[in-house]
Amino acid sequence: MSTTAYDNDNIFAKILRGELPSHKLYEDDETFAFMDIMPRGDGHFLVIPKKPSRNILDVAPDSLAAVMRTVQKLGRAAKEAFDADGLTVQQFNEAAGGQVVFHLHVHVIPRFEGIALRP
Ligand code: ADP
Repeated sequence: MSTTAYDNDNIFAKILRGELPSHKLYEDDETFAFMDIMPRGDGHFLVIPKKPSRNILDVAPDSLAAVMRTVQKLGRAAKEAFDADGLTVQQFNEAAGGQVVFHLHVHVIPRFEGIALRP
């Protein structure tokens, strides 16, 4: 496996710098959360670290912990707000692992009994 360097021009870096718009849900010192532009389920959102990190392979443990704290906080709130039955938390690493945007992000998707995710 080869891991390449962080690309400052990736879409999420531009969102963090305010160069691209986003539907922001939440922000703290270390993390940022926003709605996914092509949701695979109602309420699908993404949580990212503010520190440049390509994926789980290079992120600093403190930054990863902050991301997961935000995933839990917002995941609980989203499950309640959407009256969901469950929650899918997903994360992809490198192209071979399904990653398309190369700034670490965690997908959070409220889930409902009997309703599959859109592709
Ligand atoms: P995959 O596309 O296989 O889920 P990733 O885990 O890299 O791969 O996910 C990238 C996610 O970013 C996708 O769900 C996509 O819809 C979302 N996305 C791409 N561009 C934007 C954007 N400008 N604003 C919000 N979400 C975006």
